[in-house]
Amino acid sequence: MKWITHEVVTGVVVFAAFDDPLLAVYSMAGSIIPDRVEGSPGSSGWSSWRSRHRGWSHWPMLYLLPLLLLLRLDEYTVYAHLVGELRTIGIFLCLGALLHIAEDALCGKVPFILPWQKIGVKLFKVGSFLEYLLALVIVLSVYVLRLLWTT
Ligand SMILES: [Zn+2]
Repeated sequence: MKWITHEVVTGVVVFAAFDDPLLAVYSMAGSIIPDRVEGSPGSSGWSSWRSRHRGWSHWPMLYLLPLLLLLRLDEYTVYAHLVGELRTIGIFLCLGALLHIAEDALCGKVPFILPWQKIGVKLFKVGSFLEYLLALVIVLSVYVLRLLWTT
């Protein structure tokens, strides 16, 4: 998916789930981390970038383990309250990165339990009309679910 699609889908999903625009913004920032850390084709050359694309940077455990640690920080230290908002930012950056990986699994393969075990389906080509149509379907579905859940 394009970064804008990741940001929109992730932001809508997190806002619908947590009803907090700031948490949606944190997760939107996290939704570009897996691609951002890879660099761009222009910075390292197309073939070098392509060989790394959706590799270790898209391994869910890189984001799941810190997320779980941050969620359980209260159990490990009495100083968890001191990191307050930073902890929240970290949690939603990780959540955004995990949603990015799940979204990428709809348009190709991404690592799963082990970095070299890749799973996913190719429902559309990145940047195609179908990508934006699927994003619209997801956004509308989340909106309908939110309406049903809150009424
Ligand atoms: Zn990606």
